[in-house]
Formats: sequence, structure tokens, C-alpha cells
Amino acid sequence: MSKPGSEGNPLKVAIVGSGPSGFYAAEALLKSELNTQIDMYERLPVPYGLVRSGVAPDHPKLKQAINVYAKIAESPAYRFFGNVTIGKDIQVDDLKKLYHSIIFTCGAESDRRLGIPGEDLRGSYTATEFVGWYNGHPDFRDRDFDLSHDTAIIFGQGNVAADVSRILAKTRDELKHTDIAEHALDALDKSNIKHIYVIGRRGPAQAKFTSKELKEFGELEDSDPILVGDELILNSESETELEDKSNAGNKKVYDLFQGFSQQNPSDNKQRRVYFTFLKSPVEILGEDCVESVKLEKNALSGDAFMQSAKGTGEYSEIKTGIVFRSIGYKGIAIPGVPFDEKRGIIPNAEGRVTDDNGSAVPGLYVAGWIKRGPSGIIGTNRADSVATVKALIDDLDLQNDSNDMPGEEAAINLLNNNNVNFVSFSDWKKIDDKEISRGEPKGKPREKYTYIQEMLDVLK
Ligand code: NAP
Repeated sequence: MSKPGSEGNPLKVAIVGSGPSGFYAAEALLKSELNTQIDMYERLPVPYGLVRSGVAPDHPKLKQAINVYAKIAESPAYRFFGNVTIGKDIQVDDLKKLYHSIIFTCGAESDRRLGIPGEDLRGSYTATEFVGWYNGHPDFRDRDFDLSHDTAIIFGQGNVAADVSRILAKTRDELKHTDIAEHALDALDKSNIKHIYVIGRRGPAQAKFTSKELKEFGELEDSDPILVGDELILNSESETELEDKSNAGNKKVYDLFQGFSQQNPSDNKQRRVYFTFLKSPVEILGEDCVESVKLEKNALSGDAFMQSAKGTGEYSEIKTGIVFRSIGYKGIAIPGVPFDEKRGIIPNAEGRVTDDNGSAVPGLYVAGWIKRGPSGIIGTNRADSVATVKALIDDLDLQNDSNDMPGEEAAINLLNNNNVNFVSFSDWKKIDDKEISRGEPKGKPREKYTYIQEMLDVLK
């Protein structure tokens, strides 16, 4: 038999996960010279991963990426199998018998932990839960966030923390024409939260917000950003960092902080977002639920660009009933695939999955956050997926002629034999159409279905 990818022997690839890195991997395969057939597996009945359930509803421009993905899905060489969990409905060993290669693009679905007492008290949530809830992700549909308190605390100063705090700070009017899930819009409308603390363990020069996201805090309808000038004093290493041309993004962020510190909060606005630095949570306190957080003041130590936060032994406490931990995502293991528990990624060498000895596992590849960890914006995943597909194609060149693989109908037979109610891309288009028409009367781009059964009922 000729090589996979040649005229008589199409390269059959399974992609596990339908977020940005999955679609960019599909795109790279389709753009290659190879004769390819791609089956993309997704555990939800609906595609697009974090673009659907991670990107904030009030950032519709970022969601336009789905137009690119829908175009990719039009290729006759592409098929979507939604509502299929790999490792549960089908095993990775089964996929290996059907496809020449498997690319895992399943993102980072869990969270890093603070590892402090009280972290699991009622009222202490992960950003993932809250983001999934307001975005209508079925896993988080029934979460009940107690927004009756006047103070909320967010740990972490990355763009997810910006999303969480901005959604808490926005009014119903600012959100009602977005694709925010209706249950979240209603609950947020009744929120009593007035004081939102966004707490960084390092200084203002090290905050990981992007300036575009930070700037929005100065433009909110009923909320002002608060920053005490003293907080912006820098050590010499941080000054060096901000003077470095390669660090222009952080300089812009710092300049915005300065602007916030010089601004007087408006008496007409009810909410405040406080940015505060050099504080680490050491304990979340409370009997049955969160009552306050204990913070330790930090000092930075180390050379410029390598500075880490060290506790000084000076403590403070903030009373609050609700805490969001937004300190970074973490991948979860798939049965039958090597996993690096510490880093929360599938171990790999340039996208080739590696075993305990560091040797490449033939036919297994990885791209996106589950390859490199949760960093970068949506577009970052394109280059990452292209690099993985290049490794996959380079490996084909080294292979001897190989057999045809069943792919196609065998995948459908396997799913049917396992009683899996899978969803095709044309099925998804029906769900998509319904969501869009449900949104129209409310002036929303869509009203998402938030239960898996509701999504499947559309197809009955
Ligand atoms: P992130 O950017 O890595 O930020 C994580 C934050 O948590 C950092 O401030 C980090 O501080 C802090 N942190 C980590 N461990 C901590 C601990 N033990 N105690 C206290 N603080 C701790 O992660 P993210 O916000 O989850 O975002 C993930 C990726 O998605 C990023 O690349 C982000 O830009 C992207 N994203 C983009 C958008 C957008 O484009 N609009 C929106 C959302 C997310 P240190 O710096 O000290 O580690």
C-alpha cells in the first residue's frame, strides 16, 4: 500500500477536541498537499470549545473566530462527531485502530489550586466554574453563585480574572444584548456585589492583563476602577522590566494603572473594582462558608523578568462572602494517553506525544493548551497547531508504506455499537439556527441551550 496521504491511501486523522487548536490543526491538514480525511471528536454536542464557552459574552469580536472554523468544517474531508467522550464512549485504543494519527486538542479543562486552608469552603469558586456558568456550559449550568454579598474577591491578574471581575461589574444593560446565558443574566441582575477586589501576588509591572482588556475597566457604566497611588511604586528590577522594549504590553498596562490611580471615582456609580498588588492569599476563613480572606504582603525578589513573590510576614484580612480563584487553568488526563500531572499537559516533544522515557508514541500528537499549557490568545493556537501538523507530516515521510485505515464507516459502526448518540456538523447547524432564532426577540446574537438534553431534543 502507498504512503498515507497519497491518492489511494488517504491520511485518516482523528482530532480530539473542537476548540481553536483543533480547528487550526484541521485547517493545516486540509491546506497540506496530502489526501486527508479528518474526524473531529467533541464531548459536547456543540463545537468551538473555549470560543463558545470561555470567551466573555461581551467580547463578540473574539467569537468571530467561529466563522473561520465553520468554513473549515465545510470541507468534504471534515466530519464532526459531537457528544462523544474519548476515554468513555470510545477508547483511545479504538481510535488507534481506525486512524493513522490522533491529535489531542482538548485544552485545559481544570484549574490550578492555591493549596491553602479554606480553598474548598462554600463561596470559594474557580474562575472556570463562573465563566462556564455565564457562558451556558452544561457542566456548570446548575452552579449557584451567592451574589448577595457586597464584596467579591478575585485572586489572579490575568485576562480570565479581568473577564470575571468585568462581568461582575457590568449592568444588565451592558450585558443583555450579548450571548450571556439567560440564567446568568438574571442572577447577575440581582447581584449585590459593589466592591470587587482583583488581587495580584506580584506587582503592577507583572500583571498579566492585556491593555485592551484592562482599559475596559475605565469605561464601565456603573463601575470605576480604584487604585491607590502607593501601589504603583516600583523596585528597580520592575523599572528595568518596563523600560525593556520587548515588554511594551506591560508598560501599557502599567500606564493604564497610573491613569486609574489619578481618576476620582464617580459618585453616580455604584460599583468599584480595586486593583491591588503584592498580596498572596494564605487562608480563606469561615465556619461553613467564606467569611473573609487572609492575605500576606509580598516583596519581589530576583532579577528583572525573573522576579517572584516572597511573603513578608505582614498580614491583612478582607471580609467577603465570595471568592473566585483565577490563577490559571490545567489540563486533565485522557485514559490511555501519557499525562504530566504536575504541568497538567500531555508530555510531548514539538507536538509528538512522548512516553515516560521521553520517546515519541507513534501516531499520537498534541496541540494547543494541552500541549504547552494555558497561555496565549486564540490566534496563538494557529501557529502551535501548524507546528504539530508539520511534525505529523514529517513523520509520514519517514514511514514505510502503510496500510489503509478503516476511519469513516468503521467510526460510525463503533459509535453505534457503543450506543453513542453522536451529533454531526449538520446536526450542530440545526442547534445553531435554533439558538440564533431564540436570541432574536431579545436582541441577542443567540440564546444558548445550556443542558445537553435540550441540545439533543432539537434534533428529535
Ligand atoms: P494567566 O494569564 O496565566 O494569569 C494567571 C494569574 O494568576 C497571574 O496573575 C498569576 O500570577 C496568578 N497566580 C498564579 N498562581 C497563583 C497563586 N498561587 N497565588 C496567587 N496568584 C497566582 O492565566 P488566565 O488569566 O487564566 O488566562 C489564561 C490565558 O488565556 C492567558 O494567556 C490569557 O491571556 C488568555 N485569555 C485571553 C483573553 C482575551 O484575549 N480577552 C481572555 C481570557 C483569557 P503570576 O504572574 O505571579 O504567576
